[in-house]
Amino acid sequence: MHVTYDIIIAGAGAAGMMAAISAGRLLESGKIVILEKEKRPGRKLLATGNGRCNLTNINADPDDYFGDEPRFARGPLHRFSTAAVLSFFSELGLKTRVDDQGRVYPWCNQSAAVLDVLRLELHRLGIEIITEQGVTSVDQVGSLFIGDKPLNREPEFEVKTANGQIYRARKVIMATGGLAAPALGADSSGLEIAEKLGHDLRKTMPALVPLELDSHISKKLSGIRFEAVASILQNESEVMRARGEFLWTDYGVSGIAAMEVSRAVSAYDGSSTILLDLLPDMSNEEIVSWIKTRIAQHPDLIVDSLLTGLFHRRMGEELIKHSISNSVIPTLEAVRLKTEHIVKIADCLKSLKIKVIGTRSWDQAQITVGGLDVRNFRPDSMQSRICEGLFAAGEVLDIDGPCGGFNLQWAWSSGWLAGFKAAGDLLKQEVSG
Ligand SMILES: Cc1cc2nc3c(=O)[nH]c(=O)nc-3n(C[C@H](O)[C@H](O)[C@H](O)COP(=O)(O)OP(=O)(O)OC[C@H]3O[C@@H](n4cnc5c(N)ncnc54)[C@H](O)[C@@H]3O)c2cc1C
Repeated sequence: MHVTYDIIIAGAGAAGMMAAISAGRLLESGKIVILEKEKRPGRKLLATGNGRCNLTNINADPDDYFGDEPRFARGPLHRFSTAAVLSFFSELGLKTRVDDQGRVYPWCNQSAAVLDVLRLELHRLGIEIITEQGVTSVDQVGSLFIGDKPLNREPEFEVKTANGQIYRARKVIMATGGLAAPALGADSSGLEIAEKLGHDLRKTMPALVPLELDSHISKKLSGIRFEAVASILQNESEVMRARGEFLWTDYGVSGIAAMEVSRAVSAYDGSSTILLDLLPDMSNEEIVSWIKTRIAQHPDLIVDSLLTGLFHRRMGEELIKHSISNSVIPTLEAVRLKTEHIVKIADCLKSLKIKVIGTRSWDQAQITVGGLDVRNFRPDSMQSRICEGLFAAGEVLDIDGPCGGFNLQWAWSSGWLAGFKAAGDLLKQEVSG
């Protein structure tokens, strides 16, 4: 004997919990359950924002999102905007703060606070989360007939889990997330289930992920932070740019701005180059003049120390080496430098070009590029065009955003809409039935 639910949600992440809440608020006495593969709900949510959870961004705009069909994001993001997310969490008692980049964090700076208020609301609405229930298949089972008399009014879904449980539901919402950070529960099971039901998959690749570079500089400077503007060049043309913080690592470069441009590297089959402007607020001429003034003020300075104070000492030395080591001995007095050497140093600081080998793996990625083709879903409801009664929300879909709260905003918006519409359809069916 199977328990039949009104709505089954696969995945207790940001999108799944939001879907359950919006459905539960509409279907006051409905039976809604979330089936979660892991031992605990919201594991990834807890890890977000370095444990602080950057839950949205007040500057998030639908045009900031990517995917094969990024316009799809507009519907959900308009229907449940950043303002709606802020008032939703405020009603749940979550006090938030906004930083100078528009990033919103819980006031207490702990992602657990976000998960806790969601769980309290799920509890208030009587919505169950059953953990260690990895969904392995979702099948549409037609109406049962006795003679020509239908036993049920509409087809149902049969949902099977890895430990042999079978559930039934009138609507199913797939909120199983993407492939990034497998240690936190991410895997391809949700994508495979939806694919079996006839949905198309857009190629998946890691994004918001560090970059591997073909240069000894990164290894030598591993652990040193710097500010820059990074451009990704493909066939000599700039395809993406970000300004912000970087961190040299053994393999290449990490930090928010490096992760930001990683999408362009992931999504391209050919080779990419990163172009770093290490002094974006100064022109080449201003840098040349700054160096000349420094030399004039410190005539006994050696070439190696020329950039000390402007950059981390080791980074300054390495940049000097990189730009003029072929022609100048680093221990030479800087006063002996010719203008052509100073121009070369300035050029290197404005446009340090390094070949990109690729990105790090899923383990270090924050999000997935690709996923379920959104053309198979309706942007005004998140319902599948291929399998009626099935909805999808969050990162399982081929929509992704930049760093800074945009991806959770997408999970909240799409989750809210999927839950609202799935519940709304059930209410309509009750009225017409
Ligand atoms: C380290 C890290 C930091 C991040 N920081 C931020 C940030 O600060 N701000 C931001 O906006 N975004 C951030 N992101 C991205 C953000 O976390 C995701 O985009 C967001 O969590 C996606 O929500 P989701 O509900 O779609 O998927 P998830 O949060 O991944 O939830 C999916 C859930 O489904 C479960 N599941 C999977 N398969 C099955 C199955 N077959 N059956 C049942 N359950 C299943 C998973 O265990 C998981 O609990 C970060 C990501 C990472 C990895």
